[in-house]
Amino acid sequence: MEKLTDIIGIGVGPFNLSIAALLEQTPSLTSCFLEHKKSFIWHEGLMLPNTYMQTSYLKDLVTAVAPESPYSFIAYLVRNKKFYRFLNTEQKTITRAEFSDYLSWVSKQLNNVNFSQTVEDIDFIGDRFVITTNQGLYQAKHICLGTGKTPYIPAEVKPYLGDNCFHASEIGLRNIDLTGKRVVLVGGGQTGADVFLNALRGNWGQPAQLDWLSRRANFQALDEAAFSNEYFMPRYVEQFYHLNEEVKQQEIRAQKLTSDGITSEALLAIYQELYAKFEVQKQRKWVRLLPHRTVSSMANTADGFNLIADNNLTEKAESYAATVVILATGFESKIPDCIKGLTPMLDLSADGSLQLEPNFKVKWFGSQDNHIYAVNAGLDSHGIADPQLSLMAWRSAKIINDLLPEPAFDLAENEHVIRWTNEDVDAQSGAVNSLRDNSLRDDILRDDSLKKDSSENDDKAEIKQQVLSVV
Ligand SMILES: Cc1cc2nc3c(=O)[nH]c(=O)nc-3n(C[C@H](O)[C@H](O)[C@H](O)COP(=O)(O)OP(=O)(O)OC[C@H]3O[C@@H](n4cnc5c(N)ncnc54)[C@H](O)[C@@H]3O)c2cc1C
Repeated sequence: MEKLTDIIGIGVGPFNLSIAALLEQTPSLTSCFLEHKKSFIWHEGLMLPNTYMQTSYLKDLVTAVAPESPYSFIAYLVRNKKFYRFLNTEQKTITRAEFSDYLSWVSKQLNNVNFSQTVEDIDFIGDRFVITTNQGLYQAKHICLGTGKTPYIPAEVKPYLGDNCFHASEIGLRNIDLTGKRVVLVGGGQTGADVFLNALRGNWGQPAQLDWLSRRANFQALDEAAFSNEYFMPRYVEQFYHLNEEVKQQEIRAQKLTSDGITSEALLAIYQELYAKFEVQKQRKWVRLLPHRTVSSMANTADGFNLIADNNLTEKAESYAATVVILATGFESKIPDCIKGLTPMLDLSADGSLQLEPNFKVKWFGSQDNHIYAVNAGLDSHGIADPQLSLMAWRSAKIINDLLPEPAFDLAENEHVIRWTNEDVDAQSGAVNSLRDNSLRDDILRDDSLKKDSSENDDKAEIKQQVLSVV
């Protein structure tokens, strides 16, 4: 059995890697991160040619909270002697391949990251967690779950999974040949777009037919506008946490395209490729783009499959023949098998998911001196930014601060003119405070021109009342 460690991370994707990197500069805490894979590679099955990040390279493992860290993307460029050439490329976003290389470069330098360690079971015994891996036993005061998400397969398609019907997350791991095949691709998000573009370019051979079905109303762009990006800010997330559950779900639905849309660059590349093939080269029209289609059932045929999709515009069922079906149907959160033993002690939500406190602690009935943290498990509680890289470093710093008697990272923010609510949330504890707007409050309190007889002043009086009630 390894000696007692302050915190053990289960799984090393980017999210736990960020915590591991920041813990290297927090010597008062001992840590160890356990990863099943032999070495770091980011979503290997989707590492397709010409696929780009949706987020800026500055939203790396550390920069947002520790710009001086040796594990930033800029440090990676400098240490790998490509800083100036990188600048010459004028890239706003980098390829996923380069981001994966950056993550791998960091993982190789960290002493607290251990590969080829599959966590099989986690138990709580006495005052500690006991973690069983394929290689031995570890013990920790606290753990952090970072096992990522699982490919989502619609129920109607599950019985047909096999060599010719599979989730897109496996495409790079399979030796596929689409030459002469009738291919149906299901799912209109970024992964669907990446697979479609590669199939369109013949990267897996020239298909006889390529049909791209999406439930969405169109092939919709990622919403990257300045105000939309406000959802990916610490202050927004902290305030979101305290909204009521119904409002949260409503907001998550309304914000979907800020994280689930297709980048404008990918949409343009697809459009230009279609134009070149079908308007300039005048190829036979072997491609169909089919928005507003919801797959409702599937069946085997003599030479493959038949999919029935409901056209949401005509409200009629349509039929699509396929020899290969590729599912770009997204990912879902599941409680990892390795913590099944702890399940009776977890305070799960009505739908059986983990529930998180503001500082990403899982709610549980076990010892309150021992914490289970979870990353990429807080979409419902913390909002649309949670599964994304944007606030990864900030969340890591929050978790580390939570473990320490004094915060190691300064997460206080300046006030901003965008006011989502009139409540303020303490950056360290996550507690809700009253409005902290001294300028507005002082202005109103000093304003002796408040008179009940004008409507303008009635408004001010109302604000004053609100301010006073929360000061
Ligand atoms: C193709 C793709 C592209 C994306 N691009 C972007 C982007 O550009 N910008 C953005 O903001 N977000 C992006 N995302 C979303 C998100 O940032 C990534 O999914 C990210 O990898 C999530 O990190 P993670 O650490 O939670 O999980 P993962 O990256 O899935 O890592 C989890 C790790 O846990 C390990 N593991 C699981 N179980 C065990 C176990 N029992 N024992 C040991 N190890 C285990 C796995 O092997 C894996 O390495 C993308 C997602 C995908 C799928």
